[in-house]
Amino acid sequence: MKKYKILTTIIMIIGLIMISRASETKNLTKAVSNLTFTPKQEATVKEQHTICIDPGHQAKGNSQTEQVGPNSGSYKAKVSSGTAGIATKKPEYELNLEASLKLKHILESRGYKVYMTRESHDVDISNKERAIFANEKKVDMVVRIHADGSDNTGITGASILIPSKDGQYTSAIFEDSSNCAKYVNENMQNNGFKVNGIFERSDLTGFNWSQVPVVLLEMGFMSNYTEDQNMSSPQYQEKMMTCVADGLDNYFKNKK
Ligand SMILES: [Zn+2]
Repeated sequence: MKKYKILTTIIMIIGLIMISRASETKNLTKAVSNLTFTPKQEATVKEQHTICIDPGHQAKGNSQTEQVGPNSGSYKAKVSSGTAGIATKKPEYELNLEASLKLKHILESRGYKVYMTRESHDVDISNKERAIFANEKKVDMVVRIHADGSDNTGITGASILIPSKDGQYTSAIFEDSSNCAKYVNENMQNNGFKVNGIFERSDLTGFNWSQVPVVLLEMGFMSNYTEDQNMSSPQYQEKMMTCVADGLDNYFKNKK
């Protein structure tokens, strides 16, 4: 009789184990099916933002002229030759491309799609052509990278240029450009960079032909000995371009 009881108990235990196994398998199947569905949902929700980076100038300026805006009677040089470093003797177009390639790398690592107007110095692309390139790619934002020069070697600091609010050609892209500039400015200042301000410009060919929002960063003054040397430091460039990327992140996060 005792044996029989033990046998019954064993059978009951085996039965319980089998039932729990079955429900485990069911749960596992559920979990797996959830897993296979989740990534698909995320892929459709997250949109990839596109950025055009325009490293200012090129090896040789082009003094031929082009219209400063659509149907404009005013003409300006296609692309000027830019400034050069007082300490480094580096031409601006070289510095601009160094920083731009860092920005490209940072943005791509964060999942942005990046278009470059140039990735070498030996090109001939006018400011109007650069703007039209970005228009055709229908990018979400253009970032133009430049450096300043002045006869006064004491002047330092970055400046952020945006298309004019009341500009004949640029009123439609003012608001987005301005918002983006504010976030870039905020991130740069919070990380110790001196920013002289955000300035509206109605005279820049590269802005007037743009149908997509655009900000132009003058990283600092190559005419100041210390700032020129700083701007050539890879670590300094990396830090500043991280601020620009953080500004873009903030802009897209807060965009309605
Ligand atoms: Zn420049």
